[in-house]
Amino acid sequence: MTRPPFLKAPSDPIERHGLAKRFWEKKPLTSLNDKEWEALCDGCGKCCLNKLEDEDTGEVALTRVACRLLDDETCRCVQYDIRHQFVPECIVMTPQNIHEHAYWMPQTCAYRLLWEKKPLYDWHPLISGTPDTVHDAGVSVQHQTVSEFETPLEQWEDFIIEEPS
Ligand code: SF4
Ligand code: SF4
Repeated sequence: MTRPPFLKAPSDPIERHGLAKRFWEKKPLTSLNDKEWEALCDGCGKCCLNKLEDEDTGEVALTRVACRLLDDETCRCVQYDIRHQFVPECIVMTPQNIHEHAYWMPQTCAYRLLWEKKPLYDWHPLISGTPDTVHDAGVSVQHQTVSEFETPLEQWEDFIIEEPS
């Protein structure tokens, strides 16, 4: 998905300096402060992909059909601060509601991993020291998405991605 320059998202808007070393291993997920919570996001962009949920089993599949505001290059939201004006259904994940949403989050998502008491991967920016490793490891959706405007709902099954990837 290409966008005009004025709709480019910054490659890594997350502040990760000044945090206690490996804080996520020392504090419960639900006790993190705002800065720690935000720093956990690895920037993969997968939570901004449209999903298909099986009504009978509750199984969730990610598709490569991206939200209209996702920048396919940076894997960031192009209008994060005002996104609800355009996508009112976008969920704000917090320590208070993670229990409701962890099940549909991507399997590599730091919030889901920690909620399931699993370690973060070495490519996570908090461990590697750079957001580039998320793309280098092939975990992000960079250059992989298709437009939700150009992909009819009945075709979404053709774009399901296998996880973890
Ligand atoms: S899936 Fe998780 S780690 Fe990846 S961008 Fe979304 S919130 Fe951040
Ligand atoms: S509005 Fe932004 S944060 Fe929400 S799903 Fe779309 S791209 Fe992601």
